[in-house]
Amino acid sequence: MKNITITVDVEEDCPPMLTSTRGMEEGLPKLLDLFKKEEISATFFVTGVMAEQYPDLIYRVPEEGHELGCHGYTHARFDRMDIAEARIALKQAGKVLRQFERELVSFRAPNLQFPKNYLKLLEEEGFLYDSSLAIYKPPFFQGKIESRIIRIPATVTSSFLRLRPDFFLPLLKRSKAPVVFVHPWEFVDMSNMPIRLDCRFNTGEKALENLKVLIRTLKAENCHFLTLQERANLEKYK
Ligand SMILES: [Zn+2]
Repeated sequence: MKNITITVDVEEDCPPMLTSTRGMEEGLPKLLDLFKKEEISATFFVTGVMAEQYPDLIYRVPEEGHELGCHGYTHARFDRMDIAEARIALKQAGKVLRQFERELVSFRAPNLQFPKNYLKLLEEEGFLYDSSLAIYKPPFFQGKIESRIIRIPATVTSSFLRLRPDFFLPLLKRSKAPVVFVHPWEFVDMSNMPIRLDCRFNTGEKALENLKVLIRTLKAENCHFLTLQERANLEKYK
């Protein structure tokens, strides 16, 4: 493995099961501090609503060398919106997020669900890259799509990184340039919350420790931590 892209989906705690924002208040600052200390950059896909509610935290994203991307306006699923609603959601999100970062070019849909006939909406709104697909989740093989949007799928689901590092690291290393993702709420202890087991196991300090191990191990192996945009640029000019 030479390159890795860490992405963070910034939203309420485990939506739609909870509406609290402990992840924003406790988890996101820890993540930003960890990335700063380790001197790596990541891509943060932020909902418009979280940016409106926590502007001071979201300012830190571009300021500390990360890429700010879009995760919709609310965390509503795009596959449950008609095209007019989807267009409005993207416009609203873009309007908020561009106050923090003019060059807003990367997008990931909530729940990794984005109808392919909506890709033209991303083009209209100035996006270049979409990470709403996952190689572990259908429909990954969608055939050829007539769109200028470059699609960069996620490699593993977020709970994967809460397993033991000596289990997930060898598997991750089989991928040439994995895209991993985490959520701020995973770095808050959710073990007693009424949410699915895969959402709550090993949340809190354990998750933070795992991410630290991942970063340090890969740094020691001279792996580069690229934002989605940086990596798309590299792939384009290969
Ligand atoms: Zn999300």
